[in-house]
Amino acid sequence: LKKRKIAVLGSRSVGKSSMIVQFVERQFIESYYPTIESTFTKSVSLNGTTYDCKIIDTAGQDEYSLLGPNHAIGIHGFVLVYSVASRKSFDMIKVIYDKIINFCGVADIPCVIVGAKMDLNNSRQVEAAEGEALAKKLHATWVETSAKNNVNVAKVFDLCLIEIEKQ
Ligand code: GDP
Ligand code: MG
Repeated sequence: LKKRKIAVLGSRSVGKSSMIVQFVERQFIESYYPTIESTFTKSVSLNGTTYDCKIIDTAGQDEYSLLGPNHAIGIHGFVLVYSVASRKSFDMIKVIYDKIINFCGVADIPCVIVGAKMDLNNSRQVEAAEGEALAKKLHATWVETSAKNNVNVAKVFDLCLIEIEKQ
């Protein structure tokens, strides 16, 4: 059994809480999730190993979330979320990434970049190719998800565990 701590960060309203709740509780509630930092736990089996995952749902007063002092240390992997319907939230990914790199004092971190709300195709502002290109630049993995339709949600956490194992 391996213990893994994963932090989920991104701009406000991109769908961080919805994604985590879909993953952990298998439901999508189209209602308001409080913008407070909370921790979820879930055990994940991957390639014959069981991972005891602690998932930190971040929240912030600012335009994007930060890690609280209790959680800033001991994170194994990061999930950085933007909404495919928000160019601004996509632009913030690089800012958040640089903050983490600075804080951790390393050149590279285990990281998955997530384009959330892929079901909102009519209001798409960020193309898949842009997400992919950014992830390549940051040596991260990239995936698009819909918490609403439960598409690729579990994959996010599998990919993050794989990124952590690569380190
Ligand atoms: P957070 O601030 O990043 O935690 O975002 P929330 O999870 O609270 O979601 C913000 C809003 O986006 C809520 O109204 C959600 O119902 C909505 N939302 C979250 N995920 C999806 C999704 O996959 N598709 C759609 N269409 N809406 C979503
Ligand atoms: Mg939230």
